[in-house]
Amino acid sequence: MTFPMSQPPKATLAEQINTTGFRRWHEYELTRSFGYLGLGVLTLFVALAMLEGVFAAPVRLEGGIRLILSFACLWVTGWAWLRFMKILVVAESISRQVVCDQCKRYGLIRIIYEDLKQEHREHHMVCQCKKCDYIWQLAYTLQLPNARV
Ligand SMILES: [Zn+2]
Repeated sequence: MTFPMSQPPKATLAEQINTTGFRRWHEYELTRSFGYLGLGVLTLFVALAMLEGVFAAPVRLEGGIRLILSFACLWVTGWAWLRFMKILVVAESISRQVVCDQCKRYGLIRIIYEDLKQEHREHHMVCQCKKCDYIWQLAYTLQLPNARV
């Protein structure tokens, strides 16, 4: 039974790469990650602008509201920074492993298996070169200290 308002399931990483091709996927991920970076910088400036004159405000209520809004903007800045780093680490980690060992082509791959179990710290995918059919394994992690960047 499907609900009319239900969202279709998100495409897995393998589906995204196989649908658009690795290079388009990588370009999209870099654009998306730097979009989050831009949002973070923008909200940081807004937070700093709101903090200006908080303690010199004549009405304490206005100062309190500005302080709360400023912290909300700083929270968005932190969230955007984490999203930026997560997307960038995954995209760069995978991009360093998509050179075929046999024919040395970059990015001409199709993912033939993706390990979707969430209990592993490292995610594994098996990919195949579109030119020479060589098969190898990719690994990436969402843990920043273990990232293969
Ligand atoms: Zn190849």
